[in-house]
Amino acid sequence: MKFSCPRCNSPHIVDRHQGRSVCGSVGIVAGSAGGAAGAWSGSQAGAMAGAFAGPVGIAVGGLTGAVFGALAGGAAGGVAGARFGSELDERVLDNLECCDCGHTFRTQSA
Ligand SMILES: [Zn+2]
Repeated sequence: MKFSCPRCNSPHIVDRHQGRSVCGSVGIVAGSAGGAAGAWSGSQAGAMAGAFAGPVGIAVGGLTGAVFGALAGGAAGGVAGARFGSELDERVLDNLECCDCGHTFRTQSA
């Protein structure tokens, strides 16, 4: 893939990837919120399963369920956010930048 700057015709073009990083962070935050909800239901389910083993089983089951619920929710959110940001990069945002004049432009705009 060879691009040149539409303003100064320079071949020194870099990818910006700003949508991906921003949306990745947003996705992790959103995922963590989902993870918190997952942690709550996970701890409920874990405590219920652990109840057969008595008080210790409830504590261990609840903790394990909470950790797994939170991790799964956070990871899923981060991945979905990064994917969405990558799409945004390609379709909406100016995703290329000229190193010589600082002009930003889109891949398809040429
Ligand atoms: Zn330029």
